[in-house]
Amino acid sequence: MNAYLFLRYPKMKVYIETLGCQMNRLDSELLVTLLQNRSHEIITARKSADVILYNTCSIRQHAEDKIYSRLGMDAKRKADGKEIIVGVLGCMVQREGVDLARRYSAVDILCSPGQLHKLPDMIDQATAADGLVTSFDPSRTQKHSHETKEQIARDAEAMDVVDASRDPEVMCETSQGFVRIMRGCDNFCTYCIVPFVRGPERSRRPEAITAEVRKLVDSGRSEITLIGQTVNSYKHKNGEATTRFSELLAMLAPIEGLRRLRFVTSHPVDFTADILQVMRDFSNICPYIHVPAQSGSGKILKAMNRGYTLQQYDDLITAARETIPNVVIVSDFIVGFPGETEQDHEASKDLIRRSEFKNSFIFKYSPRPGTISAKKLDDDVPEEVKKRRNNELLTVQKEVALKHHQQYVGQTVEVLVTGLSKRSRKQAPSSGPDGTVQLMGRTTGDHIVIFDAPAALTGKYVNVEITDANDLNLFGELCKTR
Ligand code: SF4
Repeated sequence: MNAYLFLRYPKMKVYIETLGCQMNRLDSELLVTLLQNRSHEIITARKSADVILYNTCSIRQHAEDKIYSRLGMDAKRKADGKEIIVGVLGCMVQREGVDLARRYSAVDILCSPGQLHKLPDMIDQATAADGLVTSFDPSRTQKHSHETKEQIARDAEAMDVVDASRDPEVMCETSQGFVRIMRGCDNFCTYCIVPFVRGPERSRRPEAITAEVRKLVDSGRSEITLIGQTVNSYKHKNGEATTRFSELLAMLAPIEGLRRLRFVTSHPVDFTADILQVMRDFSNICPYIHVPAQSGSGKILKAMNRGYTLQQYDDLITAARETIPNVVIVSDFIVGFPGETEQDHEASKDLIRRSEFKNSFIFKYSPRPGTISAKKLDDDVPEEVKKRRNNELLTVQKEVALKHHQQYVGQTVEVLVTGLSKRSRKQAPSSGPDGTVQLMGRTTGDHIVIFDAPAALTGKYVNVEITDANDLNLFGELCKTR
């Protein structure tokens, strides 16, 4: 680097704290590359940082409270004379706007989720002069203006450039890689803040996605997960030509060296038959789908504005099992949505039982400021009822999950070894007489498999014979031949 560049971009120690979903984790990973390209050093000790960045989440109050508390601490350190630049990034920024900086004086930078490619320049600006530096995504109310459409197109292009230029060397040290294919959401489920904070749906160019997957595979990532807010609603238009999600999968699956291709999270409405057929036709597309149901009651689905009936959801599960016999299905549920009766709650239990989900992520409803349900619906299910329903749904899901996992006992499954098991990580891993430790890995259906083997197998594919199972994990023995 020449002296001019060095002066222009002073090397800083940057600490990044990430909350929320996989999209946020990938955003932070991209930021690491962008900042390292500017010679900044990424550090893990917050106390030693020159720049502190919070990549935030607005889905739950708890995640926001954590950031408020951090900002309070940063304000105190600044008042004590510590020179730091504090940046808040992501969903909270889009939801709260400049109010966030008005309430928390420590904040120097506000950057919305779609503007993260500008962050290195924003840090330079904040270093050069006092005052708040901001970059916001276009708001939903402006989305039809010509100027806003142009900005959305520019941001989608930036997403291509920034995502695809990511340096695989700074990514996780396993064989797994993550590729964002779209941003935003146009669905407006009544309880959800995402369409307001992550903006309208924008899909990346298929050529840019293909190039990025190739690059990751060439660098040793043999399992790629495509991610998007509603990943299967991916649709890229180029003049008259449209690339749909199933076509994108069919373009990516033949890439040499790509052993597993997955995608999360899907919306039931967009899970069309062509996607199931492509999954069936390519053996390296994992037979795993995460399709949140949210409720087993048609009445509640309507109030949530989910866009499908219970019958349509049931039909999707039936079609998935008919097309891909070994498919593994995972769901999400919200309990205690406004107006949910005991009958509606029983309907959710029934849906879990008949759909035989491998697991379900179950959440208690709480109104999030800015959402449609918070504005228009009365949060009328008492907290203790929500708690009870949450526990009941968890119990039903546990029973179903145990049965699901037990069907693998006696089978041999292919496992990508991801590293030490939780137990081995907690204790200092003690090796067995032949140098083995307890490892964990994942099947194509995303089952967690625990087994003893040499740690050197991390990142490799092995066969494991399943000898036992509980509601969360499979347990087995390493097969001698791979
Ligand atoms: S599909 Fe619904 S729940 Fe999912 S991100 Fe969009 S609005 Fe939120």
